[in-house]
Amino acid sequence: MSGNRRTALVTGVTGQDGGYLAELLAAEGTLVHGVRRSSGPLPPHLEALGDRLVVHTADLLDPKAAATLIREVRPDEVYNLAAESSVARSWEEPVETALLDAVLPAAILHAAASTTGSSGGQVRVLQASSAEVFAGAGITPQDESTPVVPVTPYGAAKAYAHHLVQLHRAGGAFAVNAVLYPHESPRRPTRFVTRKITSTVAAIARGRADELVLGNTAARRDWGWAPDTVRAMVAALRHTEPLDVVVATGTSHSVDDFVAAAFARAGVTEWRHLVRTDPAFVRPNDAADLVGDPTLAREAFGWAPTRAFADVVGAMVDADLALLDAP
Ligand code: GDP
Repeated sequence: MSGNRRTALVTGVTGQDGGYLAELLAAEGTLVHGVRRSSGPLPPHLEALGDRLVVHTADLLDPKAAATLIREVRPDEVYNLAAESSVARSWEEPVETALLDAVLPAAILHAAASTTGSSGGQVRVLQASSAEVFAGAGITPQDESTPVVPVTPYGAAKAYAHHLVQLHRAGGAFAVNAVLYPHESPRRPTRFVTRKITSTVAAIARGRADELVLGNTAARRDWGWAPDTVRAMVAALRHTEPLDVVVATGTSHSVDDFVAAAFARAGVTEWRHLVRTDPAFVRPNDAADLVGDPTLAREAFGWAPTRAFADVVGAMVDADLALLDAP
């Protein structure tokens, strides 16, 4: 490696968070090694990073692949963002969810423990933990002391990794759980409710769709802005002491609120008759209200979100309208 230049390994680099994180790290001069699971053209925002990003294609369902990469790259920092990230899909793909969301972090933690980073120190590991680990705790808001009680295959796999990070930390590793609440952006795939709403509302506003079909619209989530979330990840991993930290805005809204804000932004005033519920989109064990208390993130490293709910919805609707209006 490259003198004193900090080296980071980002799994899941082609995902929403991986992209924003790679951009942030590259902009500060860190050499970023990004890992993805399948080859093919890179998204333009990663292509734009040029030689500041080294992309590796690896089968992350095979735990040996991640361990080999860590030993070869010798990163100073690992951000483990690769995951089956959809709760709904985790019911359909429980084995892949377990391999990616539980076994992969185990392999990373194990390999990091026996590797020295390129700059000569411990390999620091940030695990993208999730609000879903608290889904069955019955406490709002949740914070770092909330009991881990998952209610979905996704939550259970993330909970396993969450505990394993704590065990490694107790054994001397620099391992951090960033307990992430949902965080959105125009790069969010449409399988998530927020982007499904903004892309469909934009299409309705432009006369290209005539209804929005959803599941449980009473569910409440603490939706933040993805670029804020990746900033918290970096700050958490560079904190003097390894810790677990909730990354949330502190305010939740319902799916209904999101729908109303999206139509308002798109300038559609008469919309209630365009929204329909289909039980096919209603999930088993859907957490009613996930809202995090961000006090520790603020006090430990001065993190605060830059965008409130209406700004997040607005940015996503604007981006979806711009996509439709592009020549
Ligand atoms: P995830 O739960 O973190 O995978 O994020 P989603 O964006 O998929 O879901 C967030 C919330 O929206 C959950 O409570 C879902 O039950 C609820 N929801 C309601 N209707 C829909 C829908 O049509 N699609 C999705 N994906 N979620 C929906």
